[in-house]
Amino acid sequence: MDWKGRRQSTNIEDRRGGAKKAGGIGIGSIIIALIVWKVFGISPETTLGVTQQITQNTQSTPTNETASQAESRQFVATVLADTEDVWTPIFRQLGGTYQPPTLVMFTGRVQSACGSATSASGPFYCPADQKVYLDTQFFADMRRQMGITGEQAGSTQLTQTGQAGDFAQAYVIAHEVGHHVQTLLGISNQVRQAQAKTNQTNANQLSVRQELQADCFAGLWAHHNHKRTQFLQAGDIEEALDAAEKIGDDYLQHKAHGHTVPDSFTHGTSEQRKRWFYRGFESGDIQQCDTFGVRNI
Ligand SMILES: [Zn+2]
Repeated sequence: MDWKGRRQSTNIEDRRGGAKKAGGIGIGSIIIALIVWKVFGISPETTLGVTQQITQNTQSTPTNETASQAESRQFVATVLADTEDVWTPIFRQLGGTYQPPTLVMFTGRVQSACGSATSASGPFYCPADQKVYLDTQFFADMRRQMGITGEQAGSTQLTQTGQAGDFAQAYVIAHEVGHHVQTLLGISNQVRQAQAKTNQTNANQLSVRQELQADCFAGLWAHHNHKRTQFLQAGDIEEALDAAEKIGDDYLQHKAHGHTVPDSFTHGTSEQRKRWFYRGFESGDIQQCDTFGVRNI
C-alpha cells in the first residue's frame, strides 16, 4: 500500500504512553486558572487540575515520540484523511455533510464515553463521543497473528514502497470509520432500538449485519480511495481479506475454544466478512452495502 506524501488528518488525539510528558501545563491554562482564582476565589490548583486534563486531551503531536511511533502516527493520520476525503463527497451526494470522527491513539488502557478499555479489546468505535479508539500495539499483534513478521515481510510479493500489513491496518481503521458512518446515517441507533425489543439471538444477528456493513463500507472506501490515489499495490486486497478471515468470529472462537457457537457470533464468519468487504470494493456503490435489506447475509 502506497501512503506516503498524502494529506494527514488533524483529527488525531495522541494518548500513547510517553506522549503525556510533552504537554505539561500551558501558559494559557495558567492564565485561565489565575483569572478564575481572582474572579471566583477558587484556588489555582483545583482549576489547573481541570484545565490540565483538557490540555492533555486536545494535544496531538507529542515531541518525544520515537521514529517508529512517528511513522505509525503519520500512517494512521494519512489513512484517516483518506477516509475523510472519500466519505465527504459520498455524503454530499446523499445530500448531507460528513462530520469526521476523531481517532484516539492509545497504549495500554483508555477512557472513552463508552467506558474504559484495554488493548485486549482491540480497536473500537464509541458512538457516544464519535471517536475511533486504536491501540497501536494491536497492529503489531495483528501482524504477528497474520504471520507477517519482519523476516517474512521481505519475501512477500508486495512492491518496494509497500510494507507488509499496511493495508490490513488501513482496513481495520476503515472498518471503524464505517461504524462512524453508520452512526451519522442513523443506522446504529436503529439497530440499538431494534435490539432492545428482541431476544439475544436476534440481537446478535443484528450486530452481525451491522459489522458486515462496516466491512462493506471499508471495501467501498478502498474502491474510491484507489480511484483518487492509486494507493493499492499487488497483494493488498488479499492481505485485507486475509485479515478479515483472521478476525472473523468463527476463526477467533475456534482458536479460543476449539469449537464455534453460531448464535453468539456478533461479527460474522470469515467467509461473510470477506464477501461483504469485496462487495463494497468491487461495486463502490453504497446501495450494495445494505446488509439489513438482504434475506441471507
Ligand atoms: Zn466492527
